[in-house]
Amino acid sequence: MANPEYRSGVPDDWFIDPVRIGVPGVRQADEENPLAWQSDALCAQTDPEAFFPEKGGSTRDAKKICTGCEVRSQCLEYALANDERFGIWGGLSERERRKLRKRAV
Ligand code: SF4
Repeated sequence: MANPEYRSGVPDDWFIDPVRIGVPGVRQADEENPLAWQSDALCAQTDPEAFFPEKGGSTRDAKKICTGCEVRSQCLEYALANDERFGIWGGLSERERRKLRKRAV
């Protein structure tokens, strides 16, 4: 059962497709697929709803998972480059990514 603390609004396009991007440890070259790093994403093995909490909901569980994720930097770079507005990416919330982007300008 889903944790009521999280919304069920996980984006429809948020999924890890092992056919397109490979399986953990057998990643495609990044030039072939800019999302190839997702094959090693720890969040793919967890509840995706934790990464898209409702406004004001806790991000603690998702961020904790991110700290042990080996593709954290690729994930954050992708989110910043693609202006991902929702959810936890690379261990940072929308607000934290916005602050980081402002600091970089
Ligand atoms: S850093 Fe976090 S959000 Fe990004 S792939 Fe890893 S677990 Fe998922």
